[in-house]
Amino acid sequence: MKVFACCEHIDEGIDYIVNETKKAPLIEYLKTEQKCFLCGLKAEYKIYDEKINRCDWCEKAENYIKYHDEEWGVPCYDDKKQFEFLVLESAQAGLSWLTILNKRENYKLAYDNFNVKVVSNYDKDKIEELMNNSGIIRNRRKIEASVNNAKCFIKIQEEFESFSKYIWSFVNNRPVINCFEKIEELPAKTDISERLSKDMKKRGFKFLGPVIVYSHMQAMGLVNDHLISCPRYKECMEYIEKM
Ligand SMILES: [Zn+2]
Ligand SMILES: [Zn+2]
Repeated sequence: MKVFACCEHIDEGIDYIVNETKKAPLIEYLKTEQKCFLCGLKAEYKIYDEKINRCDWCEKAENYIKYHDEEWGVPCYDDKKQFEFLVLESAQAGLSWLTILNKRENYKLAYDNFNVKVVSNYDKDKIEELMNNSGIIRNRRKIEASVNNAKCFIKIQEEFESFSKYIWSFVNNRPVINCFEKIEELPAKTDISERLSKDMKKRGFKFLGPVIVYSHMQAMGLVNDHLISCPRYKECMEYIEKM
């Protein structure tokens, strides 16, 4: 249960939630456009009880929740972000996504803010430097793969205008919309992720098998895999409708 309130009606919003749910409400500063439940003017706050039925995989850490609420499943056409995620995902193999997410800022610093051109030119010395960086996963094969993948990424940009155009063509430029009720229903990979992974492999990419590629599709919003009970399911549908 939630209400949106302007700064003048925040107290009324809190009273409303407390009365309805008998729970101490949470209050968040709003980033999206919403109207105040009392006056209809622009709302500044979201006031809600604790029962948010998020996809429960994210609930083990605060930054995981933030990632789920703000990024995961939002259709992405930004090549910089696409590349960032490919670097992080290829580093993930065998580890949890949360482990990688916790190192995201370290990666950003270590990898020149994910500038694909710069990464594609990393030489032996830079690879050694990365191997000595305790803030990232120090696996030589993964680090070498990230440089190799940057080169493949640029080739795709040259051929298709952008990497986003290339990857979105695999879903005919429209996100795949699922309607799963339970986490167990989510597939680890699909025919599309198999095809995409195979094509990427043919183009020289490494460490991006069909399971990792499916994670990438989920993160970049090529598929809406929020559970239908999750508030983000509908919110991601709204991005899709605006496309
Ligand atoms: Zn108001
Ligand atoms: Zn969700």
